Amino acid sequence: MTSGAASGRAWNKGPIMTPDQLERYRQQLEGMRVRLQGDVTSLSGEAFRQNGGEASGNLSNAPLHMADLGTDTFEQEMSLALLETEERRLELIAAALTRIAEGAYGRCSECGRDIAPARLDALPYTPVCVECARTVQRDNAQREAGHVPSPGNL
Ligand SMILES: [Zn+2]
Repeated sequence: MTSGAASGRAWNKGPIMTPDQLERYRQQLEGMRVRLQGDVTSLSGEAFRQNGGEASGNLSNAPLHMADLGTDTFEQEMSLALLETEERRLELIAAALTRIAEGAYGRCSECGRDIAPARLDALPYTPVCVECARTVQRDNAQREAGHVPSPGNL
């Protein structure tokens, strides 16, 4: 007997997707997380590989002469860049799994609107809708450029 007064507010539609859909995204995210964690482990192994390789905890003693490493330096930098990207993605995946558990998954964390299913299929860990993603990207670009670019692509 709960016929509440609040039903069907446009910005709060209750469940965004069916439990089946949620479960599918959850499994997808879990799979990505497992795979990425494997990647990150092997990447950090490569990136932080050192002559001795002992993990005694005495970091100040570790020789870190990048220039001496020759071609390895490039590979290490690649590994580090990739590692950063993948670690960031892992954070997004963890956050998405939390949102699934909280029932907030599929809703944009910026504007609160639903994220298009096609976008979730492509980027199941994205916290924002395509509009907000664009805004964030533009803000970042503007901050880096230090000025507002002319609106060329409308
Ligand atoms: Zn949004």
